[in-house]
Amino acid sequence: MSQIVRVALNRPIRRLFDYIAPDNLTLQPGQRVTVPFGRYRAIGLVVETGVTPPDGIALKPVAGALESWPALPGETLELLTWAANYYQHPLGECLFMALPPALRKGRTTEAPAPAQWWAAKPDTDASHIPANAHRQRQLFDLLQQNTGGLPWAQLKERGFTRSQLNALAQRSLIQNVEPPGPVAHDKGEPPTTPVLTTAQQHAAGKLPGRPGFSASLLYGITGSGKTEIYLHYLHRELGADSQALVLVPEINLTPQTVARFRNHLGNRIEVWHSALNDGQRMETWRRLRNGEPVILIGTRSAVLLPFTRLQTIVVDEEHDSSYKQGDGFRYSARDMAVFRAHQNRCPVILGSATPSLESLHNAATGKYQQINLTERAGAARPPAIQLLDIRSRPLTAGMSRPAIEAVRETLAAGQQVLVYINRRGYAPVLMCFDCGHLAECPNCDTRLTYHRRDRALRCHHCDYQQAAFHRCPKCGGEACEPVGQGTEQSEALLAETFPDVPVIRIDRDSTQRKGSIQNILEKVNSGEPCILVGTQMVAKGHDFPNVTLVVVVNADGGLFSVDFRAPEQMVQTLLQVSGRAGRGEKPGRVLIQTCHSDHPLLTSLAKADYLALATQLLAERRQGALPPYRSMAIIRAEAPTMEAALEFLEKVRSQLPHHLIEIWGPLPASLARKAGRHRAQLVLQTESRGHLNRALAGLCQQLEQHRQPGGLRWAVDVDPLETS
Ligand code: ADP
Ligand code: ZN
Repeated sequence: MSQIVRVALNRPIRRLFDYIAPDNLTLQPGQRVTVPFGRYRAIGLVVETGVTPPDGIALKPVAGALESWPALPGETLELLTWAANYYQHPLGECLFMALPPALRKGRTTEAPAPAQWWAAKPDTDASHIPANAHRQRQLFDLLQQNTGGLPWAQLKERGFTRSQLNALAQRSLIQNVEPPGPVAHDKGEPPTTPVLTTAQQHAAGKLPGRPGFSASLLYGITGSGKTEIYLHYLHRELGADSQALVLVPEINLTPQTVARFRNHLGNRIEVWHSALNDGQRMETWRRLRNGEPVILIGTRSAVLLPFTRLQTIVVDEEHDSSYKQGDGFRYSARDMAVFRAHQNRCPVILGSATPSLESLHNAATGKYQQINLTERAGAARPPAIQLLDIRSRPLTAGMSRPAIEAVRETLAAGQQVLVYINRRGYAPVLMCFDCGHLAECPNCDTRLTYHRRDRALRCHHCDYQQAAFHRCPKCGGEACEPVGQGTEQSEALLAETFPDVPVIRIDRDSTQRKGSIQNILEKVNSGEPCILVGTQMVAKGHDFPNVTLVVVVNADGGLFSVDFRAPEQMVQTLLQVSGRAGRGEKPGRVLIQTCHSDHPLLTSLAKADYLALATQLLAERRQGALPPYRSMAIIRAEAPTMEAALEFLEKVRSQLPHHLIEIWGPLPASLARKAGRHRAQLVLQTESRGHLNRALAGLCQQLEQHRQPGGLRWAVDVDPLETS
């Protein structure tokens, strides 16, 4: 009888499709196939073989296989199946994200893996083989003994069958990829192992080795040398044939970082980030899939890739919001990394100077081991943080006189200054002082930001832009002026005040061109006196040894937000940006300007004791019955009118199990109109992750079966980061 296979397509639909595998085609889970779909052919991924055919439905045959081996190994299939279920995203779309673009489009790979089989890992736990599957066990033992692998032909000669192979492969016990070759290092300098400080040694000593799952939260203050610890750890733990994953936020993946890793770990280092071209993605993907001993430094989506010998995972800056995808498949790369380590029975290290409250909670409940590193490496000392109340003080370039004086002194001493301001552009508003008219985006409920360089008004939420006006479009008056301050204005005003030093702006506008961030970093790393002006982009992980003064222009943004995560994010950003000061031998100093210098969050912040602050914030979360003490999901809807969005969510609300789940809303989102569409949301909370997951799964199935009114789109966001 012909085999029936279940296939996932790269489509936003929560169902799979059954096809008949032609007799001459043996298919395995993870293999790419072409299948007839409607009037076209589609590329699919086999997720299950040996499916019992449903009654009374005439199945179509698979048109062909795109390769004779699974593009996605069992482990990756399992990971993405878990994630599709956890994040309520269609499985097909999740699976295709683990393929490079070329393979998604159906290209065949030039170098298919040979038809040869190996035991997946030397220390594989074979207890998953069913007790009565004697031949499977014999096959597994045989492959474990033959470390050089065995070709299919020989296995067949010994009487083993394809289905026995498939059964073991499905459990990820064996694989048909080449064993990795010998490890080569970069020519020239031999790899060096960093000499750790006593505190670093102590911390590194607590990190468990492999095999076996362990999750460690490495809380190390800024400048404590977490990167050195990762390097040392990878050196210590990684076998010559094993793979590792180091996740970093996009902005931290600089040539300097990569060079630091290459210098210590040789040319096993590969990178994965948004700027790679299709060819580079294909090549790195192929090396991972073939089991080559790659150490991959990558941003978010690297966690989805088909590693076959993954033995260690590091998540640097684990609190960083860029690990959570904001649309489509809304996964958290950090959380998937922990699942993946569990699945691979290997260690995962989550490092940060400002760990997320989620991770601290996991440490407090014993899920993670917490390791503290509370001193800076080398001669560096933590910076002194001072609050500067700017109520009724005259400001120059947004800065009070003491701040300006501090900048002057720092530059005179031949050192560098970093000015942090959380808005890009020249001014957040352009206002008519005659009638009070504000320039607003026609498509979003928001004001337009004034960019002086090209005299443009831009919306930071959609693509809209227009020329700035002198004459008010409403009253015709000529008193239009920018109000408030952005990075561009600080840059201009600081350049006027300090004409003798370069003022370098770092924000999304100034770093758009490829390589521009590298140029900027090189300039700063030269150590010459300069003023850096930037958004949170400058706050993240950079190591500028000659920056000794950080000025936070205004700290008050996060104090009164409706988003329950805003205080946590504010504290993290301010401490991270403060952490850029005094990383070298010279002591650092941080001035935080505020109108609320007696606010408890800010007074605690000035003590730079993140753990104390986090304990305070966690207590508030507990009291408010908020994550991490509850599981949360948001159902978002957008529609041509607010009524339609709210009506849809009302209906959703009535379908949910009210006795199991707390439901808030529906309410308009805080940005209620974006790009011409009206947005609303329903917040779901419960103590039971299981209840939430089942309710959402049922809901998604139901919603998908019914046609929604024209133009309505909905999405589920599990563990949302943005909640307002
Ligand atoms: P973190 O990531 O914890 O903020 P880094 O790993 O970037 O810290 O290290 C901060 C600075 O301290 C870097 O300039 C690094 O080279 C230096 N450093 C770290 N560990 C050591 C060490 N053991 N000996 C000397 N310098 C070190
Ligand atoms: Zn807009």
